Amino acid sequence: MLDIQKYLRLEMFPHMLCPGCGHGIVLGALLRAIHSLKLSQDEVVVVSGIGCSSRLSGYVDFDTLHTTHGRPLAFATGIKMARPELTVIVITGDGDGLSIGGNHLIHAARRNVGLTCLLLNNEIYGMTGGQAAPTTPLGKISTTGPTGPFETPFDSCRLVEAAGASFVARGITYEPATLEKLIVAAIQNPGFSFLEIISDCPEFFGRFNRMGNPADQILAQKQNVVDAKTAATLPPERLKGKMLTGILHHEPRPEYAASYQESIAQMGAQAR
Ligand code: SF4
Repeated sequence: MLDIQKYLRLEMFPHMLCPGCGHGIVLGALLRAIHSLKLSQDEVVVVSGIGCSSRLSGYVDFDTLHTTHGRPLAFATGIKMARPELTVIVITGDGDGLSIGGNHLIHAARRNVGLTCLLLNNEIYGMTGGQAAPTTPLGKISTTGPTGPFETPFDSCRLVEAAGASFVARGITYEPATLEKLIVAAIQNPGFSFLEIISDCPEFFGRFNRMGNPADQILAQKQNVVDAKTAATLPPERLKGKMLTGILHHEPRPEYAASYQESIAQMGAQAR
């Protein structure tokens, strides 16, 4: 039986998330996933950057690192290289992970470093007051785009797959049980696993774009997505404007830290 308090730093509560924020749903799914995998708290490291989503690392009772803006994957790569036996989970946001941290993201994917990266996409910069992010959809209101941005947003899953990630998936907070399963599958992949999670920001994105209350906003998620397995059976016109969810790509290949250790061993053997 899951005792969720076992995984929390209760002295850090109350948390700073706004009422209706999706990030708490993600945190619950992550803790249930770790529990179901029977990982000990001493073998899990959670690394985050800067932003509302990155505050989650402060609430969990694992070894945690709350790093600088955009850099959690760089710190996490160092941890994985030094202690490859650990399960290293990165929590980042769309601003943190795709804007200032975009270069780290594509190279972690290219190298197939054995990390699980959860990118919580709320389609805006939440912590700093609602500026447009690299994921803000065309026409959606933000403080820096009062009439809506005219920049095309990233499809982070396609970006990371093209960069070389061995596992790519997308989940939504509307479906927390499915989200938990996706997190389990991501952790079980030995290489770089990327999971984009659509996690609402009612305080800025929802309010600026008149999406109703937090419940209305989370219900709207369901209208905008199609599960990848279902999508394979539908004609292209039915998929227009929809995001795909579920496991989008899974192609295991050699993990970076393990390949590095092998390379060091070969060099040692050649030198003898
Ligand atoms: S500003 Fe948005 S993302 Fe940040 S805690 Fe509030 S609702 Fe969540």
